Amino acid sequence: MGPKRLRVRPIIERLAVEHADAAIALTFESPLELLISVMLSAQTTDVNVNRVTSTLFSKYRRPEDYLAVPQEELERDIYATGFYRQKARSLRGAMQMLLDEFGGEVPSTLDELVRLPGVARKTANVVSSELGNPAGIVVDTHVRRLSQRLGLTKHEDPVKIERDLAKLVPRKDWGRFPHLLIWHGRRICHARGPLCEECVVNDLCPSSRA
Ligand code: SF4
Repeated sequence: MGPKRLRVRPIIERLAVEHADAAIALTFESPLELLISVMLSAQTTDVNVNRVTSTLFSKYRRPEDYLAVPQEELERDIYATGFYRQKARSLRGAMQMLLDEFGGEVPSTLDELVRLPGVARKTANVVSSELGNPAGIVVDTHVRRLSQRLGLTKHEDPVKIERDLAKLVPRKDWGRFPHLLIWHGRRICHARGPLCEECVVNDLCPSSRA
């Protein structure tokens, strides 16, 4: 098993072949729809968000639309994503700032995105990466588990994990790296019972049971 600095490149290359379809699982057609989807995806599944946004986005097309209805109406429309009160408040706050400070457009840099109410660093990271401007590496539960198993970090805290990964992963791969780990986590490296025998990076993984 070589040092992690040397293992990371072949890990990325092999996972990119294995999961050539790896991409964000949210359905959106504009930066605004992307931002809303990612904000709604906190504490729920992407499938659930897509189900809600399939009707939401035909009713709410512009930032103004989220402010034109009473808060309770927006809460009803996003109810199925959970934490609907807080999410509705965040959405409206973010839409108001888009209008007030960004000319109604979604900014693409992390620094601008984190200024929007209710937009945490993780949300901003996902949005800026999808908009072609990755400023960091998105660390979710799959990225954390796989980074640890692959020996790329020893940390538990997402911010520290991101710091470790940013030192190892070439900047050009910051956007796709989390998708590769997420899809590998869903398909092969399950939280319980990873399928190490079928894993294309098992010779590069210190946790391999193969
Ligand atoms: S070898 Fe096993 S533990 Fe390591 S990444 Fe592959 S599936 Fe996960």
